[in-house]
Parts: sequence; structure tokens; C-alpha cells
Amino acid sequence: MSEVKKCPECGGEMEKGFLISPRTLWWNTQKQEVFLGGEQLLRSNWKGNNLEGYRCKKCQLIVFKYDYRPPEPLYKWPSLHRNKDKPQAQT
Ligand SMILES: [Zn+2]
Repeated sequence: MSEVKKCPECGGEMEKGFLISPRTLWWNTQKQEVFLGGEQLLRSNWKGNNLEGYRCKKCQLIVFKYDYRPPEPLYKWPSLHRNKDKPQAQT
């Protein structure tokens, strides 16, 4: 993450740190009265997610970088096209 040190609201210095959550985070451009989901920014992680960022205590503003990785499939089905990736025999 590039060095973001100035608060975009007050211009004050921001402290570097980590937003820590074992839970997931969602983003939506629309406010919701009940949870309807949106774009998932973070997967839940029992070890805890550490999102590097910068905080301005005065403005209670945090700028952080998220790192969404899609879940690994629980089971990989065998390919039905076994020879698909093999080069075709030259005739
Ligand atoms: Zn500020």
C-alpha cells in the first residue's frame, strides 16, 4: 500500500495499522435496512483478517486495502475431457 499519511478530510497525519476482523465484510453503494448482501470484500477467517490501513482518530476515518480471494472448491470434479489439455497427436 502506498504511503497514505494525510487524512482526506482534515489533512492531519494518519496512523498506520491494521483493521482486524475474523468476520466477513460487504460493500454496497445502497444503504440497506436489512442485510441483503452486496459485493463481498472479505471472507470470514477464524485466524482473523488483518487489513493494512491508515486511521485518523479525529475524523474516525480508516482507509484500508482489502484482499478478496474466492473460496477454494471443497471438491474438484474430475475433468470429463481428459485429453483436452494434452497436445493433439500429429498425423
Ligand atoms: Zn482527519
